[in-house]
Amino acid sequence: MFLEKMNYLDVEQYLSRKDTVVIPVGSLENHGKHMPLGTDTMIPHRIAELLDERFPDVVIAPTLPYGATEDLRGFAGTISLGVEGLRQVLQTICDQLYEYGFRRFVILNGHGGNNKSIEQVGLHMYERGAYLAIVNWWLIAGQIRPEWKGGHGGAEEAAGVMAVDPGLIRQEYITLGECVRNDISDELPSTSWTSTEFKGGMVTIPRPINRVTDNGWLAHGMGSDEPTKATREWGLEMLDAMADYTRDFIQALERAPLPKD
Ligand SMILES: [Zn+2]
Repeated sequence: MFLEKMNYLDVEQYLSRKDTVVIPVGSLENHGKHMPLGTDTMIPHRIAELLDERFPDVVIAPTLPYGATEDLRGFAGTISLGVEGLRQVLQTICDQLYEYGFRRFVILNGHGGNNKSIEQVGLHMYERGAYLAIVNWWLIAGQIRPEWKGGHGGAEEAAGVMAVDPGLIRQEYITLGECVRNDISDELPSTSWTSTEFKGGMVTIPRPINRVTDNGWLAHGMGSDEPTKATREWGLEMLDAMADYTRDFIQALERAPLPKD
């Protein structure tokens, strides 16, 4: 059940029985010419809606549409709270929910760059005697079904967007390649995101993403397929599977005792 549709009596009644809250966290960031800026927000939000259908007895807080995505700010429309900004916003939300009695926080995360901030909030909540769990949907989808594995702007995310609304994919651009460019040197080629390959290993050299790619999608280094392989059927099956997984995980977390002092 969605927190914004409840009144305070509903929340008090829920908290007399349970202490779980789901918080979808997204990002507004470039995903290439073929995908919308809200990809990382719309997919976890849709998973939350599917979760609500199969498990209505869990509170779902409003989806946070901004995240930490500093390296993508070079592309128009991307807005980042920064690592510290997201940590502050999320910690404020979690601390206030804690005051009412919530103790099990499940973050339905849509963007890898958010993890530094969310993990800091998770440690803080643990020190207060609560659990904060991060469900990184795109990683878990690839773990439960390896053929779904993917990353930023590749087939996995394109399939997820198709499940939300196929009209959001710009078909005229879906065949464009990643356009990885700007190698550090002949010996140190750019691979994916901030990595450069050297003697079979990946070394990280942080750079703004618009210095590494012409159009801002980088997924091959994350094991993703071409977005042309994505289908709506894949997306629908994958988001259903993630909603089932999240329900099962929450039920296991609810059976677990809270951290002790
Ligand atoms: Zn994404």
